Amino acid sequence: MITPIYLDHLASTPLDPLVLDAMLPWFTPGAAGNPHAAHAAGWRAADAIDAARAEVAALVGARPGEVIFTSGATEANMLALFGAIPPGSPCLVSAVEHASVLGCLPELRRRGHRTAAIAVDADGRIDLTALQWALERALEGAGPDGGAPLVSVMAANNEVGTLQPLAEVAALCQRFGALLHSDAVQILSTRPFDRNALGVDLLSLSGHKLHGPMGIGALILRDGVPLTPPSEGGGQQRGRRPGTLPTPLCVGLGAACRLARLRAEEDGRRIAALRDRLWAVLSAALPAIRRNGAADGLAGCLNVTIPGIDAADLLLDLPGLALATGSACRSGAESGAAGPSPVLLAMGRTAADAHASLRFGLGRTTSWTDLDQAAAQLVAAVTARGAEPQGRP
Ligand code: PMP
Repeated sequence: MITPIYLDHLASTPLDPLVLDAMLPWFTPGAAGNPHAAHAAGWRAADAIDAARAEVAALVGARPGEVIFTSGATEANMLALFGAIPPGSPCLVSAVEHASVLGCLPELRRRGHRTAAIAVDADGRIDLTALQWALERALEGAGPDGGAPLVSVMAANNEVGTLQPLAEVAALCQRFGALLHSDAVQILSTRPFDRNALGVDLLSLSGHKLHGPMGIGALILRDGVPLTPPSEGGGQQRGRRPGTLPTPLCVGLGAACRLARLRAEEDGRRIAALRDRLWAVLSAALPAIRRNGAADGLAGCLNVTIPGIDAADLLLDLPGLALATGSACRSGAESGAAGPSPVLLAMGRTAADAHASLRFGLGRTTSWTDLDQAAAQLVAAVTARGAEPQGRP
């Protein structure tokens, strides 16, 4: 069987061999020991987790005590939205958030919170005027005991790669006394990210988007921000997210964060050059192709619409490419929700355009050869389908 060229780094990044090396000793019988147990084996595991926690914190400019390990970013997002929102407060999110954020809104409404999905522009960037308006309305509608609104705006979009103007969003949040949560999952492997400079109060990250292991992530909670734990019982992580910590996964996340801290800038430059080359090749060969998302977005993301193509069908013609039509977290296989991408619809694209769209996710393991071969295969498949119009519409 041929190994497909892996172009789906936005869905998951391959485990870095250095991360695997760091984790392996913690899977062996000699490393037995509950990290919360009060004996030498437990203390050894706890020390390794403390070192990992420090690495996670350092990646985003936080303090180790602000790191809460979770099973991934889905859980971190839910912990932020349900755990940090003050009773009765409104929750405002951008309309292009990940499914794990948007999916919390119905339950928040059932619990008595007002919610709003703030519009985005044609590139998927949040409309700051609409956010300001929503914050003004939120405060007007707040009762005398109304707590701070919670705003959730991602750092970079996982389907189109557009970066959100987080510093401006944070300035608005400060002005209106709102808490700011940011899903920073996609940005950390290719851009330095300083939570303090950006003014983010809560931040979610995920191991497998940073060349770390699956099944681990973190919520970084600024000191002083109250959090109501999701469940009672179990005092681990100061009761904020109870449960025995998985030592190998925590160590892996720490190693991945350390690598990201050392490499993000250089990786980002190289990967952005790959992305620009891919766009240059595709747009030269397929005149009707259009790009979705801001050109200065996430280094590894190129989302395109090829008019007349059914992207899901096209992928069946491309067994040599591991490529996506959009977010894996809302793919039909598990959720039955394979409708047109809500992100593209929020950006004003039609359902037909959304069905004709593909997302390339380039990353640390992508080579120039991979890229040229992938572009050639895609162009050949599109041409074979005869769907490419002869000129720009
Ligand atoms: N947020 C974003 C922006 C993502 O891309 C993803 C993964 N698709 C998640 C959250 C969920 O992360 P995890 O797989 O760690 O639950």
